[in-house]
Amino acid sequence: PTILYQDQFLSRDQGKVDMEDRGYQFGDGIYEAIRVYGGRLFLLDLHMKRLERSARELRLQLPYSIDHLTDNLRTLIAKNQIDDGLVYFQITRGAAPRQHLFPEETESVLTGSAISLSREDALRPDGIKASLIDDIRWLRCDIKTLNLLGNVLAKQKAHEQGSEEAILHRGDTVTEGSSCNVFIVKEGRLITHPADHFILNGITRLFVLDLAERLDIPVQERLFSTEELLSADEVFITSTGAEVKPVVQIGDQLIAGGRPGVIAGRLMDAFDKEVTRIRTA
Ligand code: PMP
Repeated sequence: PTILYQDQFLSRDQGKVDMEDRGYQFGDGIYEAIRVYGGRLFLLDLHMKRLERSARELRLQLPYSIDHLTDNLRTLIAKNQIDDGLVYFQITRGAAPRQHLFPEETESVLTGSAISLSREDALRPDGIKASLIDDIRWLRCDIKTLNLLGNVLAKQKAHEQGSEEAILHRGDTVTEGSSCNVFIVKEGRLITHPADHFILNGITRLFVLDLAERLDIPVQERLFSTEELLSADEVFITSTGAEVKPVVQIGDQLIAGGRPGVIAGRLMDAFDKEVTRIRTA
């Protein structure tokens, strides 16, 4: 595969990271993962806006303009001959002798890759099992940083309980998944955690909120409890890779009798239509 290193396209084995890169030593960096459908970057502008916001919040300098970066990502997709796939890229604060303070004159370091991912392999229309796991992460989960240990530990714990995803809670309040946002349905209404410092404002979350509006499905962005989660009419999660994924079991508790719900179904159909439209546009 061809990877992106700064402004260069290299083969995977030519990619080298400095051992004093701050991304490596401190997790001092940010990233984005963008879905590719039919060779095209999906919801690109929203991802780039979020990238710029993450950079601003961490006072990290983007090494290239968004236009230039976008051109390079498109080249990366072409060089790897990606039809449906995923582009990942990250930007660190660069390499400098190890100390916590920001280095004064260090160039940010960008690396990126692109992989194929078919929707058939990524989607789970029949639903998955999830586990409720304590949210032990820091208080700026709204920034898409490379620091993912809290997420990694949660997902691993869920996996060891036979679940595919961890649904995180702070006290009684459900926040999000280890790598996705969480929605519940009560009496025909969508409920999801508001976009504050406790969750990542997922691009798929935003897209699903937009689809819900188009489908006249009422939405509440508000806190909801683990009790509301477990007694919900439907539960589903959203992410770039997996789109809308029904959750039909949480721990020992079946949700909606263990079958995907009607509202999730309508959203999955609408999502599918949009992807088809984009692939053939
Ligand atoms: N929350 C977390 C913690 C995530 O890591 C992700 C990304 N995988 C999401 C939510 C979903 O965001 P997006 O829809 O932009 O992929």
